[in-house]
Amino acid sequence: MLALVLLLSVSALAFAQERHVVLFVIDGFSYKAWDKLSIPVLRTLAREGTLVEQGHLPPPAHPKAGPYAEIHSSSIVNPIMMAGTIFIDRKTVLLQEALPASMATAFVVNSLSYVTLTKGYTEAFQQTAPDDRSIERALDIMQRLRPAFIRVHLQNAGSAGFLSLSTKEDVPWRGNIWAMNAPYRLATERADSLLGVFIEGLRRQGILDKTTLIILGDHGQDDGGWHPLELPDGAITSFVLWGSGIRPGLRVPYAELIDVVPTICALLSTPPPATSQGRTIAEALTAQVVPFPPREEHIRTLNKQFAEYRSLTARLMARLEDPSVPRRGAMYYQLGTIRERFCDLSRFTEWPKLETMPALIKQNEEALKQLRSIAEGKNQEHKRQEPNKNQEHKKQEPNKNQEPMTKDR
Ligand SMILES: [Zn+2]
Repeated sequence: MLALVLLLSVSALAFAQERHVVLFVIDGFSYKAWDKLSIPVLRTLAREGTLVEQGHLPPPAHPKAGPYAEIHSSSIVNPIMMAGTIFIDRKTVLLQEALPASMATAFVVNSLSYVTLTKGYTEAFQQTAPDDRSIERALDIMQRLRPAFIRVHLQNAGSAGFLSLSTKEDVPWRGNIWAMNAPYRLATERADSLLGVFIEGLRRQGILDKTTLIILGDHGQDDGGWHPLELPDGAITSFVLWGSGIRPGLRVPYAELIDVVPTICALLSTPPPATSQGRTIAEALTAQVVPFPPREEHIRTLNKQFAEYRSLTARLMARLEDPSVPRRGAMYYQLGTIRERFCDLSRFTEWPKLETMPALIKQNEEALKQLRSIAEGKNQEHKRQEPNKNQEHKKQEPNKNQEPMTKDR
């Protein structure tokens, strides 16, 4: 009897290590691609597996100097994706560092921006090359190493998206990534067919039925190209989960980039990294051991706060340039104290002090509340003083200012 139990647990362990999870990143994959591009492989996988229609993430800032750049070389969303938390500092544990030593891991990427993310892998390949080269290399690693986890990152689509933003040429795809022959369109469609090549390679190696694929962007893409931090689409991608352990035919409207790591860990039957805060996309898994935690939309809320903060401060600043606004000094002073409290992207490396997303959201909400009240209160004061001033000239100004000030909440 004891021998039988032992045998069962050993075979269970062997099974857990037999699964291969592939995190397949198409750089800058837009959640809008479904209606706009010819991506038959992705479309099939989305139909046969689970599609997370919108995967939300913080705006993909890429500080190249300052405290963040001392820790990481890529945009902030890449360590966020690999750690399962938006709180990145030197203590943050990445997925490959948290997996048991018995599980082989690999990372293949055709760009040199990810050097700080290659630590802790059994094998890492990082070289500036076309996407095709990454696929060849990834299949070679699958054959030799049979890793439990591999991240394959195709860089070309993201780089191509930037061309629509930056080109000076008078081409139809200037400012439009969806136009005919737009570099983003071509590179994403190419990534789709390379995904097909990769899957076919896994089938030939005889491991496709033991493989789970999670396909996503590290961030999204603006219609006009690239991912300006102020525009919402750079902070949304889609996730496709397909294969071993994934429920077929399911659509999930919302998840967050930080959910990917705990989901991979659930698939590999191993605990997530200690610093991970994401929620397993349990809906998508065939083996649902625990009931789903409720879905909260923290990242969407945070991104809305950034937009409101930007808009309110911009309007206030513009208004305070007008010398006829009373008590400008006091308003500038208040604005200064609010700026010290509000945690926007420029203070990314300070976020870990707040420890949890609800705490970060709460602190920002308090700052926004103060900001709104200055916007409203001072408008009224301006209005009250109006009769003392030159009425001819000032008559319409308070209305002009007040309208957009209060509308924006
Ligand atoms: Zn990217």
